[in-house]
Amino acid sequence: MFLEMRDKDLLEQAKEYAYDYLDNALDRNVFPGAEAIEGLRRFEEPLPDSVGNPKEILALLNRFGADATVSQIGGRYFGFVNGGVIPVSLAARWLADAWDQNSALYVISPLASKLEEVCESWLRELYGLPDKVVAGFVSGSSLAIFCGIAAGRYRIFQNLGWDINRQGFYGAPKVRIVTGRQAHGTVVKAIALLGFGIENIEWIDTDDQGRIIPAKLPELDQSTIVVLQAGNVSSGAFDDFERIGTKARNANAWVHIDGAFGLWAGASEKLKHLTRGMERANSFSLDGHKTLNTPYDNGIVLCDDKEALTHALHASGSYIVRSENRDGMFYTPEMSRRARSVELWAAMKYLGREGIDELVYGLHQGALRISEKLKTEGFALLNEVVFNQVLVKCHSDEVTNQTMKNIQGSGECWVGGATWNDMAAIRISVCSWATTKSDIDRAVEAFVTARDKALDTQSNR
Ligand SMILES: *Cc1c(COP(=O)(O)O)cnc(C)c1O
Repeated sequence: MFLEMRDKDLLEQAKEYAYDYLDNALDRNVFPGAEAIEGLRRFEEPLPDSVGNPKEILALLNRFGADATVSQIGGRYFGFVNGGVIPVSLAARWLADAWDQNSALYVISPLASKLEEVCESWLRELYGLPDKVVAGFVSGSSLAIFCGIAAGRYRIFQNLGWDINRQGFYGAPKVRIVTGRQAHGTVVKAIALLGFGIENIEWIDTDDQGRIIPAKLPELDQSTIVVLQAGNVSSGAFDDFERIGTKARNANAWVHIDGAFGLWAGASEKLKHLTRGMERANSFSLDGHKTLNTPYDNGIVLCDDKEALTHALHASGSYIVRSENRDGMFYTPEMSRRARSVELWAAMKYLGREGIDELVYGLHQGALRISEKLKTEGFALLNEVVFNQVLVKCHSDEVTNQTMKNIQGSGECWVGGATWNDMAAIRISVCSWATTKSDIDRAVEAFVTARDKALDTQSNR
């Protein structure tokens, strides 16, 4: 019965559904309406007793699934920091999905191994990082941050004469963990998962843009891990890597940069001043699925200490003989892993250095355009638009929150909220290649309509 899986018609059908979806992406409500959400109940049923019909299953998924999707690929999704998807990267992933490769070892997939090697070397080239820098290909920045800090934890303990893998935390010398008050939640999570304890974090004060104030940095020493940020998730601001990184290097501390979306600024001629000094860090985390617009599930950890990274992630990996070639699993916590290097390779191969620059700088230009237009329409701008993030508010928190809800309900575009310096704010992330000037102008209109409606509601009360 499973031969049906080789049924070409089935894949053709999936392709047809996908084409339909892509064709309508621009007209679709950005967020699904109530009816589509209600339709999701169709999936609630007991586990089927017997084997089903593949075509019917696909039809069901398309019928009730497609309408309930959030239209991230259409150009007017500005929520969180979610990238769009570059067509050739998507197509390459389809192919890789059909191949069903496992990236664990060279002997399991020479192709995945080779493309990881190529992506690793291209990333070094893009950022001007030395040859010793290695890359691990993981699901996203959450895990990439975890890997970077794990490598730092291994190395710093090693420097203190302690093998954290074998000896653990009991009776261990104290390792300090230092980060800014605006560190991303996933940094805090990684710190907790790695056993340091959130209460032991030494928090550094930040300025009104969320940047670490270098003068507030505590004394650093060889027992310290410092986590910096390239791209504050609300304001888009960058820490001063040159000043802080130099201080950390001189003290033999470990520096990790959380650059989920922001590190890509370093790949743009006009924006790379933002990441100046980044090469002073030991490890970096970034996402293909944000700024680079690969499909989801594409994160990268870069580390200048191969031994620290591989030992941190494979405390007991010696049971597998390493080959002459790259065995991807040693650079990630997982063993079996899909070949996500395929879509990363395709995106970078397609864009090249110039295309990446154009994409990244284009997002910045889009952010500038929307911020200027919203200012003209009377919204207050709360951040310096250094990259692709824009924060605006109305004259009161109440109107700001209601305006945001109205925008979300309009289907015209989607934006999320943030609390910024104790004020309610609307956060706009320009993160998709598909966002055009007219998408931005349409979004601005939606903002104005939503605010008018919020003001009406208020005065009618
Ligand atoms: C999105 C983001 C993360 C988490 O990345 P995921 O890919 O969602 O795991 C971490 N840090 C920053 C600054 C981010 O923007």
